[in-house]
Amino acid sequence: GSATDSDVVKRESESMKKTLRSSAEKFEFQAEVSRLMDILINSLYSNKDIFLRELISNASDALDKIRFLSLTDKEVLGDGDTAKLEIQMKLDKDKKILSIRDRGIGMTKEDLIKNLGTIAKSGTSAFVEKMQTSGDLNLIGQFGVGFYSVYLVADYVEVISKHNDDKQYVWESKADGAFAISEDTWNEPLGRGTEIRLHLREEAGEYLEESKLKDLVKRYSEFINFPINLWSTKE
Ligand code: ADP
Ligand code: MG
Repeated sequence: GSATDSDVVKRESESMKKTLRSSAEKFEFQAEVSRLMDILINSLYSNKDIFLRELISNASDALDKIRFLSLTDKEVLGDGDTAKLEIQMKLDKDKKILSIRDRGIGMTKEDLIKNLGTIAKSGTSAFVEKMQTSGDLNLIGQFGVGFYSVYLVADYVEVISKHNDDKQYVWESKADGAFAISEDTWNEPLGRGTEIRLHLREEAGEYLEESKLKDLVKRYSEFINFPINLWSTKE
């Protein structure tokens, strides 16, 4: 039969979902990292909440780093909002995006390429091996690959980052073996720090509920020394 208009629209949006920004520079994940992401994105693991613990812990590490540098050089903090050492979470219920932002040290373009994809940590293959037997995903942070747990709940992730020594960049990946990096000329300037935007999967709608997030933040922020603020853009 012939395709209806809505079929065409649907197919176009599916294929658009498969392509990252075309002007971006493309990179392949290191093989072990790619295997890890495959495992995570196909995982039936039920305790997906842990992704938030990993993101809060990374945000806190990044804030610790800039605070440490500021002890010997106050200038690194910048001024106005940029100097506020805090974590913010934002919900966009319409677009199904959960964002977590910190005003920590941020990542240069080179940091983004190395830390989020091309350099495997020693724990990567150990964790992959463990997962293939009967490992507990909950331990992911201990293997130094906690960031990738975002793919338990998201099928598309953007990492926007601004380090004092570089321009603002966007890292993005749909966990299909590749990621892309672009100089960020369209988002709001972060000042300094990192914003992780999780485009949540259909099954992960619970993370758009404020009550759920508040519970998780309460649980995971016990040992975090920075304030965590939550707000939503749409009811
Ligand atoms: P770990 O935190 O154990 O090093 P992760 O997989 O959680 O491993 O993160 C990998 C790396 O990515 C971190 O070591 C850090 O360099 C970088 N990173 C992740 N999130 C952030 C962030 N919010 N700000 C700055 N750097 C980050
Ligand atoms: Mg971590």
